[in-house]
Amino acid sequence: MCENGGVEQAESRQAACGICPRACRLAEGETGFCRARKAVGGRVVPMAYGRPCAVALDPMEKKPLYHFLPGRPVLSLGMAGCNLRCRNCQNAEISQASPDGIPFESLAPEEVVALARREGAPAVAYTYTEPLVAFEYVLDCAKAARAAGLANVLVSAGYVNPGPLAQLVPFLDAANIDLKTMRDAGYRENCAATLAPVLGTLRALARSAVHLEVTNLVIPGFNDAEEDFAAWCAFVAGELGEETPVHFSRFFPCHRLRDRPPTPPAALEKAKETALARGLKHVYCGNTGSEETTFCPACGAALLVRRAFEILVNRVRGGCCPDCGRNIHGRF
Ligand code: SF4
Ligand SMILES: [Zn+2]
Repeated sequence: MCENGGVEQAESRQAACGICPRACRLAEGETGFCRARKAVGGRVVPMAYGRPCAVALDPMEKKPLYHFLPGRPVLSLGMAGCNLRCRNCQNAEISQASPDGIPFESLAPEEVVALARREGAPAVAYTYTEPLVAFEYVLDCAKAARAAGLANVLVSAGYVNPGPLAQLVPFLDAANIDLKTMRDAGYRENCAATLAPVLGTLRALARSAVHLEVTNLVIPGFNDAEEDFAAWCAFVAGELGEETPVHFSRFFPCHRLRDRPPTPPAALEKAKETALARGLKHVYCGNTGSEETTFCPACGAALLVRRAFEILVNRVRGGCCPDCGRNIHGRF
């Protein structure tokens, strides 16, 4: 496996991968840092093409997307491998595996579309791990889904190069991107990645027609200080827009991060207060088990009420508040 440090082997490495900032250069047969791409015939190809290891029908709220087709099911695909090494990964058994090392289903892009239709899902999501390491498969599925009138949803850490992202964006309808911290050192320590490419992805999506929501997993002692919330909210409100729905999600110990407690509810409330004070209009706390309500930013009416992944109330009409007529950001 290439860990980006093998200078002495550089001359034998012929195939370059342009998907993410790691820029792996691989010898024939070698696998990239993500464990999901391999040099074959001088090209770096996705090993999980047509081979998702997780296939499920999820509620849209589980992605989480709260302002996009609420209450509708989404056919969700996960492919083995990831280009990050998050110590807190909740899906490590598939994200830190190679597509050759775990069971999978055979699903060509047209079969993905047929399955979504059979299940009555209006959308396909690329999720659970880092889907962009299976870029060519995601792109072909997204094209097939778009041609069939289905929506495409990307759930990603956003650690991708601008070129592949620009190729995919025209076929995407919605995205939830994880912005883990505004500290580059935090990305390096906890994820073996860097911050700048993630910010670039977020800015590109915010400029596009893709509906964007952003998630922050609040981890005690990592990103729960007041200045962490302030910097995070300032970036989202200032650069992505105050209408961007944001999700502060509760951490539970897992994978390699078991030495700290679950996020106290008070920390999530603090994050929410900070976001509202910074002007963000749609602020949610996730993984808490309590109800989450979308309020009209103009008149304060309760428009959408959710518990877990279930919609209890949906009063949005024609994308607007029925009481005052204000547009509600998203697709309803
Ligand atoms: S996607 Fe995988 S193979 Fe390609 S540069 Fe990133 S880590 Fe390396
Ligand atoms: Zn209103």
